[in-house]
Amino acid sequence: MEQTVRLSIVVPCYNEESSIGPLHAAVTAAAAALPDDEVEILFVDDGSTDGTLAALRGLAARDAAVRYVSFSRNFGKEAAMLAGLQRTNGDAVVLLDADLQHPPHLLPQMVALHKQGYDQVVACRDRQGEPALRRIPARLFYRTVNRWVDVQLHDGAGDFRLLSRAVVDALLSLPEYHRFSKGLFSWVGFSTVTLTFRHEARQAGTSTWSFGKLVNYALDGMLSFNNKPLRLAVYAGLLQTLLATGYAAWVIVNALVEGVDMPGYATLISAVIGMAGIQLMVLGVIGEYIGRIYYESKHRPHFLVRETDSRPTGRDQLTR
Ligand code: UDP
Ligand code: MG
Repeated sequence: MEQTVRLSIVVPCYNEESSIGPLHAAVTAAAAALPDDEVEILFVDDGSTDGTLAALRGLAARDAAVRYVSFSRNFGKEAAMLAGLQRTNGDAVVLLDADLQHPPHLLPQMVALHKQGYDQVVACRDRQGEPALRRIPARLFYRTVNRWVDVQLHDGAGDFRLLSRAVVDALLSLPEYHRFSKGLFSWVGFSTVTLTFRHEARQAGTSTWSFGKLVNYALDGMLSFNNKPLRLAVYAGLLQTLLATGYAAWVIVNALVEGVDMPGYATLISAVIGMAGIQLMVLGVIGEYIGRIYYESKHRPHFLVRETDSRPTGRDQLTR
């Protein structure tokens, strides 16, 4: 492993005007502990509606290590991270949140592990300091997703990680429109090491994750990696058919033995409603997959750039 590392730090920002200054200071302080390495910070403004872009322009004018790219509207954190990865050319990239929940003082430790030869250095947070309202849905999320997805995801292991050039290039070779990074990181593989950090409360502003967004994220996680939910639908249909056949046989035998009468209106209605519910759900699952095919087939770009001082390196195959 080479001893000097060209490190790019990618920071997605959505309405983070008050966090950018402190974050820049913290990263600069951490970079001072890496005198042999080249550190640059690439901010991705994800269509912020506050003063984020102005703050970035000012920072880039003052500090040569700062570059930025700004989207035409809010495209989501996945798109922001992708834009950042496309614009880095160094040996390693660190993905870092703007709100200081990912402590930059871990950077030297992460770089050291990278120099030991690891391709992915994952900073994993323990959820001690978090409210239960956040912790429990998260646990549920990982339980469910790990059950239904081919790749294994770890609780607390988020986007805060160092990626070697090999991993970045691998990620950039995946052209899918629906990007579920947590899964992609695990899917590409390479040698991975984990370090743990204490979770900090958000420095300023509010988290943009509502409960609804989390539920959607969980669904995305399950649907974007395999077709196990479709398989489940097949099994459910099979089970239901078996049950219905069994019940029909019982009804016929009963009618032959006891004679025909007309009770069971309640049973009938609940069966019909139950069936309709299952069918709707299965249709929904199929619809989700078709929706994904529809989005993929449009070949739309993942984001649109409004203003930037950095160009994509063209290493990826995503430029459509
Ligand atoms: N973010 C983004 N686009 C979005 C939402 C969030 O770029 O649409 C950024 C945000 O500025 C922050 C990071 O993604 O740097 C994580 O967001 P947040 O703190 O809201 O998520 P949480 O820490 O609660 O998971
Ligand atoms: Mg946060």
